[in-house]
Amino acid sequence: MNADYDVIVIGAGPGGCHAARIAAEQGMRVLLVEKRPEIGAPKRCGEGLSLGGMKNLGLKPDPKWAMNEIRGASVYAPNGKRISIRYENTIGYVLERKMFDKYLAVQAARAGARVLAKTAVTGLIIKDGFVRGAKLSSFGENYELSSKIVIAADGVESKAARWAGINTTNRLVDIDSGFQYEMVLELEEPDMLELYFGSKVAPRGYVWIFPKGKDTANVGVGIGGREAVPAKKYLDKFIQGHPNLKKGSIIEVNAGGIPVGDPVGKLAANGFMVVGDAAHQVNAIHGGGIHEASIAGMIAGRVAAEAVKKGNVSEKALAGYAREWREKRGKILHKIVKLRQTIEKLSDDDLNMLAENLTGEDLVEFAKGKRFLKLAKILMRRPHLMQAARILI
Ligand SMILES: Cc1cc2nc3c(=O)[nH]c(=O)nc-3n(C[C@H](O)[C@H](O)[C@H](O)COP(=O)(O)OP(=O)(O)OC[C@H]3O[C@@H](n4cnc5c(N)ncnc54)[C@H](O)[C@@H]3O)c2cc1C
Repeated sequence: MNADYDVIVIGAGPGGCHAARIAAEQGMRVLLVEKRPEIGAPKRCGEGLSLGGMKNLGLKPDPKWAMNEIRGASVYAPNGKRISIRYENTIGYVLERKMFDKYLAVQAARAGARVLAKTAVTGLIIKDGFVRGAKLSSFGENYELSSKIVIAADGVESKAARWAGINTTNRLVDIDSGFQYEMVLELEEPDMLELYFGSKVAPRGYVWIFPKGKDTANVGVGIGGREAVPAKKYLDKFIQGHPNLKKGSIIEVNAGGIPVGDPVGKLAANGFMVVGDAAHQVNAIHGGGIHEASIAGMIAGRVAAEAVKKGNVSEKALAGYAREWREKRGKILHKIVKLRQTIEKLSDDDLNMLAENLTGEDLVEFAKGKRFLKLAKILMRRPHLMQAARILI
């Protein structure tokens, strides 16, 4: 089949940029399109990324986008009890997404992909049951381009997968609502993340303070999508009750949804793959998706190139992406969804009890999908938590 491109990637977030770069490195003719005029902006992100995650992606922290070194975290229970963990060395960074996403897009372009900002995909070309390209719109001009494969990396509000016949609808219970200010403020420990839990602070979620420098931070809240009160109200209330935050200035406002349910069951169709937030590939306990979208994008980019080279882009040929992703990330993410489902059953009093019995290291391990047995054993000390504990085993 003659096509304008081998691979068209929709969306230049971390998932799309990684998919485009890897496919281009394999010699594919790749087009990466982004509907926004500036890649990475405005961000919808707390911008936290662990050093381990960065290493998995083959990235070295660059001061152009890795703004602040993080050495640990303090987690606050509803009653104010603090659990802290501080390491000697850097364990992660708070990024500047605007620079980070652009850096990833530059890497894709340098690998040979053609990158086009302010170009939206408005539909797919589907022929004989295969996705064969995309309909595009840029500066009022509408046109079509054909491709052998389309990779949808179009984020949490993804439409492309639905156009391809994949159901990505998020149940309200499986989406968190995020709201955030980037602030200039006084920080006591600019190398520590701060997380605050409790039904009054953030029902089913938490408030975060992610320092971007000695006196700047992303201050945000994530709450369950079914809450009647908007996330902004929770954040404003928290800020007013915090001595340093309430004196701070707001330099940016961000909002967005975070998919925290299981990833979508079907990740590929004929001539089509879906990655990242669009496929709900997110860590459901902390909402982090940069690492997950990037890993999925890298696998999808490689599998796409292999399929094009073999001349078979059928759903079956592309299923290798889903298989590899499930093995590498899917199983862990599914466990983490179970952890979220358990935690959301806990009252403030239960959370306070946990804070008395857990260490900072435990919390770090839980977020990686580990040490669940320890958590289950503690929960089982309270008869009403037996069922919640069983979800973890
Ligand atoms: C409030 C909040 C805080 C968060 N904090 C963190 C955090 O601290 N750390 C972390 O790891 N993750 C965090 N996340 C999650 C993280 O931002 C996402 O998981 C990550 O960006 C997903 O990457 P992606 O490439 O799948 O999608 P995105 O980064 O969303 O990129 C999708 C891109 O597709 C483009 N697009 C959409 N439709 C089209 C179209 N039709 N045509 C062309 N382009 C299109 C969009 O404009 C967008 O640029 C947070 C999310 C929220 C909402």
